[in-house]
Amino acid sequence: MEETCDVFILGGGPAGSTAAALLAERGWKTVIVDKERHPRFHIGESMLPMSTPLFERLGVREQVEKIGMVKHGAEFVSPAKKQSVTFDFADAWNADYPSTWQVRRSQLDEILFRNSARKGAQTVEECRVTDVQFPKTKQEDVRVSAQMADGTKREWRARFFIDASGRDTFLSRRFDMKQRNHEHCTAAIFGHFENAKRLTGKEEGNISIFWFDHGWFWFIPLKDGVTSVGAVVWPYHMKARDKPVREYFMDTIAMCPALQGRLANAQLVEEPTATGNYSYVADLCQGENFILVGDAYAFIDPVFSSGVMLAMNSGFSGADVVDARLRADAVAESRARQRFNHVMRVGPKEFSWFIYRVTNPTLRNLFMDPSEKLGIKSAVITVLAGDLFGQTRFKRGLYFFRAIYYALSIAHMRRTFVAWRRRAFNIRDDSEMRPSRG
Ligand SMILES: Cc1cc2nc3c(=O)[nH]c(=O)nc-3n(C[C@H](O)[C@H](O)[C@H](O)COP(=O)(O)OP(=O)(O)OC[C@H]3O[C@@H](n4cnc5c(N)ncnc54)[C@H](O)[C@@H]3O)c2cc1C
Repeated sequence: MEETCDVFILGGGPAGSTAAALLAERGWKTVIVDKERHPRFHIGESMLPMSTPLFERLGVREQVEKIGMVKHGAEFVSPAKKQSVTFDFADAWNADYPSTWQVRRSQLDEILFRNSARKGAQTVEECRVTDVQFPKTKQEDVRVSAQMADGTKREWRARFFIDASGRDTFLSRRFDMKQRNHEHCTAAIFGHFENAKRLTGKEEGNISIFWFDHGWFWFIPLKDGVTSVGAVVWPYHMKARDKPVREYFMDTIAMCPALQGRLANAQLVEEPTATGNYSYVADLCQGENFILVGDAYAFIDPVFSSGVMLAMNSGFSGADVVDARLRADAVAESRARQRFNHVMRVGPKEFSWFIYRVTNPTLRNLFMDPSEKLGIKSAVITVLAGDLFGQTRFKRGLYFFRAIYYALSIAHMRRTFVAWRRRAFNIRDDSEMRPSRG
């Protein structure tokens, strides 16, 4: 028997659950399904300050606070120079949100998913969407086919479909519109450690980023004493793996003495995971009766911990599109669609300028010694805090930062050329690597 709803949401991660809560709250019959059962593991544990107003608007701030380790800023460590710099979110242009949290994603995602049920959405777990058929005429519904973990088949008819399938990129693959990002390409190995040496005092919960020859590492302290550590590396380093993931991970850590020092007495609490080549974008983020939110549309790189904030933000502006569409308010829909387009493109664009250059020596030097003049440092921190979509006037400082970067690049032509050639080599990859454990 076919079930019916106004909105069908494929995927109960941060993007899908955000949209589900907002649409159910507005009175629309909303169904959200996930192929897994919450709580389920997910990587991506470091939040940005500008996620907090989103948690507040969803009514889950206190719950997130309870599971989170307070993160006041981000430390960048340059092992070669034995130097480190800390960006404190309190120094951003908008100091309303001077901190955020590190979280277990299993816990965060469950909070968001259950919250959507509390707001009135029908949540269905262990239900994998297998097919979506889009109608030929505007009057007809979208038809969704799914299969429960026990093999039972289910069918829905919906007026609107949201793809929030994350890196599974359900619609992108189906419509053959997933493009590899030709400007970027990295892979990751990550694991969780006990007894890692953390920073102290107020900085204990900060994320640390360590650069090394083949990429960079994250060090994310979680509330339960466990620390998440991940190596984000160029594909050639991953391809060179000639031993089990665990050994290769530990060998990679040994290439970064500053991080190895922090892990001298630490033990892995489970087998590490390797994953790769996750930088992509879809050709479009919306159609007549569907939108793509969060990672289902695009993902670039985890270096600035922007994924969850961007995913939730897309859930917010995506919900406006759906709401206007279902109300048949053409003017509001057109405005909402423009705004949605802007949100899907602006966030990734601002972060990607930094991401594409983050291992470049010129940018690295600027990062290690950021100028307080002309509002440059606070503009950089504003981007790092994820404050891209509001009223905060950070653009001027950012223009100066970029101008200095380009001037230094011209002044050091040889270094710039070598870095450019090196990067062109680093981002070459044509393989789609599968996640693997052990
Ligand atoms: C190595 C790495 C490190 C990262 N670190 C960070 C970080 O520190 N901070 C940060 O903010 N972000 C980080 N990210 C990014 C972040 O994890 C994602 O951007 C975020 O999870 C996107 O949320 P989403 O809701 O779009 O997708 P997801 O969270 O992936 O949710 C998608 C959901 O859809 C479900 N699903 C998929 N296909 C189907 C189907 N056919 N039927 C039913 N359900 C389905 C999945 O089970 C899943 O629950 C990292 C990413 C990577 C790769």
